[in-house]
Amino acid sequence: MTRWRIGRVTVTKIVELEVTGGSRFLLPQATYEAILPIDWLRPDFADERGRLKMSIHALVVETRDRRIIVDTCLGNDKENRRIPTWNRLQTSFLADLAAAGYPPERIDTVVCTHFHVDHVGWNTMLVGGRWVPTFPNARYLMGRVEYGHWTSQHEREDMNAVLADSVTPVWEAGLVDLVETDHQICDEARLVPTPGHTPGHVSLRIASDGEEALITGDFMHHPCQIALPDWSSTADSDPEAARATRVQMLTRLANAPVLVIGTHFAGRTAGHVVPDGPTFRLAP
Ligand SMILES: [Zn+2]
Repeated sequence: MTRWRIGRVTVTKIVELEVTGGSRFLLPQATYEAILPIDWLRPDFADERGRLKMSIHALVVETRDRRIIVDTCLGNDKENRRIPTWNRLQTSFLADLAAAGYPPERIDTVVCTHFHVDHVGWNTMLVGGRWVPTFPNARYLMGRVEYGHWTSQHEREDMNAVLADSVTPVWEAGLVDLVETDHQICDEARLVPTPGHTPGHVSLRIASDGEEALITGDFMHHPCQIALPDWSSTADSDPEAARATRVQMLTRLANAPVLVIGTHFAGRTAGHVVPDGPTFRLAP
């Protein structure tokens, strides 16, 4: 289990899946030849052949009086996912979450950085043939912009299944609070707007006792985008806005002692952005 301390706050990583290779569909420019020269990516974020390592995990932020789960991965039993291996998963995610000290009923807040399939899955679970909220005692904070975008008009057929089994049941249970992209959750945690990957995409800033951390969400998918911020992901809804957000955020992070915790970063997952030639790298 990986856990970080930011002042009096802890952040715990609960892994659902880790994969090596097979992510070119997301970052088409990340060829082996392009990745191999970026030596600091090995061994945590790429292998000896230049294949990308990626992780799908949730991050539990525990403050003095809150237990916040940030992004709920893919979930078990889901169907009609675009990526075949993401259908009918049976992982030990909930048991691992409980073993880390967080049985579902202890979670009081769920944050989805955006509504993509790998960020909302465990919002619900299948019980007696119905999708029910996994975290019955939590308020689910969903971005007003993000919610409006996906429930009014979108072009992605596969999103209908995601909304139907992972968003609508929580809404109908009355557990959703629509929030703005800069919403202050509690003294130590606040949303930060990082649009481009999706229209209402947010990151999460943690500050406690003079220390600071940032949970990225998907404004970057892989640390190679720290070295090459111009590389957009095929999942970015507005590639130019996503690029502008990356450059702006990386520039700010490189000038402050902020622990950056990547939502899809494998291995050590976290580090500090520092200048490296014309761009940046992720130092320990
Ligand atoms: Zn994602």
